[in-house]
Amino acid sequence: MSSLHLTNSFTKKKEIFKPLSSKKISLYACGPTVYESPHVGNARTLVVFDILFRVLKSVYGSKVIYVRNITDVDDKIIEASKKNKKRINEITERITKIFHENCKSLNCLEPSIEPKATEHIKEMIQMTVSLISKGFAYENKGHVYFSVISFKDYGKLSNKNLEELKAGSRVEISSLKKNPLDFVLWKPSKDEDPGWDSPWGRGRPGWHLECSAMSEKYLGKNLDIHGGGLDLIFPHHENEIAQSCCNNNLKKFANYWVHNGFVTINKEKMSKSLGNVISISNAVEKYSGQVVRLALLSAHYSQPLDWNDELLKNQKKVLDKWYNLYLEETKDVNFKADEFLLDDLNTPGFIARIHELYNAARDGDNEKKLKFNQACRMIGLFNVSKQDWDNLKKRQINISESFIKEKIKDRIDAKNKGDYKLADKIRDELLSKGIVIEDQKDKTIWKYK
Ligand code: AMP
Ligand code: ZN
Repeated sequence: MSSLHLTNSFTKKKEIFKPLSSKKISLYACGPTVYESPHVGNARTLVVFDILFRVLKSVYGSKVIYVRNITDVDDKIIEASKKNKKRINEITERITKIFHENCKSLNCLEPSIEPKATEHIKEMIQMTVSLISKGFAYENKGHVYFSVISFKDYGKLSNKNLEELKAGSRVEISSLKKNPLDFVLWKPSKDEDPGWDSPWGRGRPGWHLECSAMSEKYLGKNLDIHGGGLDLIFPHHENEIAQSCCNNNLKKFANYWVHNGFVTINKEKMSKSLGNVISISNAVEKYSGQVVRLALLSAHYSQPLDWNDELLKNQKKVLDKWYNLYLEETKDVNFKADEFLLDDLNTPGFIARIHELYNAARDGDNEKKLKFNQACRMIGLFNVSKQDWDNLKKRQINISESFIKEKIKDRIDAKNKGDYKLADKIRDELLSKGIVIEDQKDKTIWKYK
């Protein structure tokens, strides 16, 4: 396959990718809502769209613009703030920082633009005003709703009609709505909650509106590719389509819709509501960013991926082997996406190809080794040197979590007995093994140096 093909969730078909313009390729992926540490399910979306970005760049170079937003105003954030008795900004800033650290350890390229919802309220209000004036939205007591019956294509992405949608989804019931499926564009805020002045009083935007407003601002009215996890198809992406198509009088908002499958644990979706999440930070700490990344790429993006120790251990073994042929000098070399990656981002096929390249390189000349290294870098591997990889391995072999916890306990005991000399000795011992400990108000935490 010499040109890029993608499975378009809108048509449910694998299609050849044809850009809207020869000057610019636009990719928008819905980013995180920053209220809790991102988990491995979120990491899959990150890594899948990072691969798509890399593949697009390998074909179209610097013409590709990748926008990934940060949702920093949302009911979930307000809830978290009340529950944890923390200021909203404190939560959103802390989680955004963790998110960025996670992206870095997973070796995701930075998106071209990373807009924050709270910095685009003006655009969201403008869009709402415009949708009301065109008859697609209505106000009722400080709330503004989008009227789904005003958009005849509503339900096309999720392939359902209004009746099916009503029956199958948990829509918010409200006497203020004309139709239960109508969704909120703007809602009033209580005094203590985040809010902005608007023609309908002090309030805040609905989540779906945020992406329509931000994608238009940075990418224009039409997009080449829009994506996210499978759970975003309905209602989030369906509603983005309704808003953007109606406001801009479009037949199509994005030409291609790409959705990744779920990370599961024991066949159940990893999600905060089920309480079965593993944070990216923990997974990276335990296995390293590269192992997590390779595991996330081991299945085709459209399929579910079951997360378990066996999977991670296997990926670690693979990387240990591949690092035998690591070359420092391939850092800046570009590898063109091959037929596997162009074929709907077939990462398992590409990984099998890397295994073949490894076998050929093992007894081969430097050129073969270079090719193998370039292939690894194409999917974002080999971002740490051989020496760092070996150190990481040593650390993981030498120190188990239970060992660290025991040492921390010994240190607390020593401190309680007033033996500060011993306490310091234990701290230094851990430090020499690459573990930093930090005393907090009522506990001691640890991290790798
Ligand atoms: P959220 O922060 O919940 O809005 O999710 C951010 C992104 O992660 C969205 O694109 C979700 O679809 C995606 N996502 C959430 N849970 C999973 C999961 N278990 N597997 C794959 N993607 C997920
Ligand atoms: Zn979105």
